[in-house]
Amino acid sequence: MKKRMVSLMLCACVALAAAGCGGSKNFKNPSRGEALIMATNAAFEPYEYHEGDEIVGIDVEIAQAIAEKLGLTLQVEDMEFDSIIAAVNSGKAHIGAAGMTVTEDRLKNVDFSDPYTTATQVIIVQEGSDITGADDLAGKKIGVQLGTTGDIYASDVEGAEVEQYNKGMDAVQALANGSIDAVVIDNEPAKQFVSKAEGLKILEEEFAVEEYAIAVAKGNAELLDDVNKALDAIIADGTVKGIIDKYITAE
Ligand code: GLN
Repeated sequence: MKKRMVSLMLCACVALAAAGCGGSKNFKNPSRGEALIMATNAAFEPYEYHEGDEIVGIDVEIAQAIAEKLGLTLQVEDMEFDSIIAAVNSGKAHIGAAGMTVTEDRLKNVDFSDPYTTATQVIIVQEGSDITGADDLAGKKIGVQLGTTGDIYASDVEGAEVEQYNKGMDAVQALANGSIDAVVIDNEPAKQFVSKAEGLKILEEEFAVEEYAIAVAKGNAELLDDVNKALDAIIADGTVKGIIDKYITAE
């Protein structure tokens, strides 16, 4: 009987360690009144972008509302998109909010909150382009933002040459200059970028449908739970919809 108890306890310990609850990770979550640090890439209008000295956008306002619910202030840290997951896992930031799509691959490295919106990947081309849909991308030069889902999808296109840029707008500029044939990027930033360049259009065909969520360090169940409770409350009371509607006008 005693022996059985010991082996049961052993099993529980192994299971806890495997789940990352063995105390190996020390998460420094903010306490009331402290700052919730959000890692983002503020070159992704309307989700996060610079307006004068400020970083504004849908994700910033959603994170602000979450912080308020949790009795915290919000601190925004701007960085390259492909540094965000490392920043969250190293504790440099508590959350990553950057129009970040939930993917199986990312779930190996971070945990995601409940999704707060859906988005699509679209294809941008020059107005006179012979590319009319995803099938025409084969063998073409495709511009993407480094480390994004657009980057992953483009890399799967047969014979395509993928040009990676740090900012989506840089890819769009390269397209406007004729150095690449297409850009694969998220739909709302695509609209913003196209409106700031000459002679470009977004193809109607959607390349992929995705969900955006907030990233927290892998295994930080306490923060994930807090973020989800706050997020679910601001989704339920219409705050999130109000924020999205403020930045995105229905067509
Ligand atoms: N939704 C895309 C992704 O998660 C792009 C996000 C971004 O560039 N900020 O990969």
